[in-house]
Amino acid sequence: MSANKKLLLLPGDGIGPEVIGVTRRVIEWFDKRGVLSFDMDEGLIGGASYDAHGTPLSDETLDRAKLADAVLLGAVGGPKWDDLEFSKKPERGLLKIRKEMGLFANLRPAVVFPALAEASSLKTELVSGLDIMIVRELTGGIYFGEPRGIEDLGNGERRGFNTLTYTTSEIRRVGRVAFELARKRSGKLCSIDKANVLECTVLWREEMTKLGKEEFPDVELSHMYVDNAAMQLVRAPKQFDVIVTTNMFGDILSDCAAMLTGSLGMLPSASLGAASGGRLPSLYEPVHGSAPDIAGKDMANPLATLQSFSMMLRYSFDLQDQADLVDRTIANLLASGLRTADIMQEGKAKVSTSVMADAIIRELDKLSASA
Ligand code: NAD
Repeated sequence: MSANKKLLLLPGDGIGPEVIGVTRRVIEWFDKRGVLSFDMDEGLIGGASYDAHGTPLSDETLDRAKLADAVLLGAVGGPKWDDLEFSKKPERGLLKIRKEMGLFANLRPAVVFPALAEASSLKTELVSGLDIMIVRELTGGIYFGEPRGIEDLGNGERRGFNTLTYTTSEIRRVGRVAFELARKRSGKLCSIDKANVLECTVLWREEMTKLGKEEFPDVELSHMYVDNAAMQLVRAPKQFDVIVTTNMFGDILSDCAAMLTGSLGMLPSASLGAASGGRLPSLYEPVHGSAPDIAGKDMANPLATLQSFSMMLRYSFDLQDQADLVDRTIANLLASGLRTADIMQEGKAKVSTSVMADAIIRELDKLSASA
């Protein structure tokens, strides 16, 4: 029995409250059984926050997020808020909370459940059992580098420019997250760069190599150029275990890897900051958006959010057994043929969000009774 952890739920907009509601039931299930006790608090973000407070993220909610042991977010956005000025848009709330919490490492697993292998656009044998983890640097690189802009050259020409920069400490802190993960998994880490062209990523490669030698000699580190990595991800994805890369390369490669799994409704993520004083700033969220087209229709797939919660148990609280229980529950439900509409396949049983939620609770009861 662990001490109470402070958990902040930020359901957001669209299907956000529906998918968070399902995970809330799972958290309550753990609580009732005396396995885990969370002090659960809930706040507003995105359009819901704009409607209540005129801002997509209030200072008060941000303060509560900073004080929480972990944050679980649903999704933000929707047509209702599309015409707001840039700074008020729901998505600004998301960018702000990531930035203010200093979440520099974005973990995006690409896991193919055997029961869903046929949903991938790649051949089943290439992806069945796939389980890779991409660690993307999230707060530096070309998306944030200065100078940036578009300038008028005065002769009818304009020039657009951005700056790719990384410092030693920015590289090493995200490197450490990836090496630690590799150490807990297969002991293999692949760092992806473009060191044959970009000096900044020459530094990236040098620092990753040094870090490995100094602090993680037990982890086997390899390097790959990003163009080759994109090819290898669709040619033979199972060669990878943990990947670490820059902000922009990670943005592109993680979407590419996501598609190997076949469905947006099945993709979790974690964003982590620097651990200090026994606390790890962390935010967990599904990769998908607020899906306004199906919001309120009891059709949303809650499994990406539930897997995000499982990542929280693993990475924020080191509760491996409980995370395994959640993951096994999901795998069993899929193997039994239950599918929300987005992952429906011929011969399977199409169920609503709430029916899937009931089945999750029943499976948790069953697995824990037989443990
Ligand atoms: P989306 O991810 O919301 O939806 C894309 C498609 O996938 C839709 O057809 C949707 O019904 C389906 N889908 C997504 N999640 C699903 C789930 N859990 N179960 C079943 N089907 C699911 O992307 P979009 O349509 O481009 O964006 C909609 C809104 O969400 C926009 O306002 C956008 O800015 C926002 N958005 C937010 C986030 C976030 O909060 N992290 C991410 C992406 C988009």
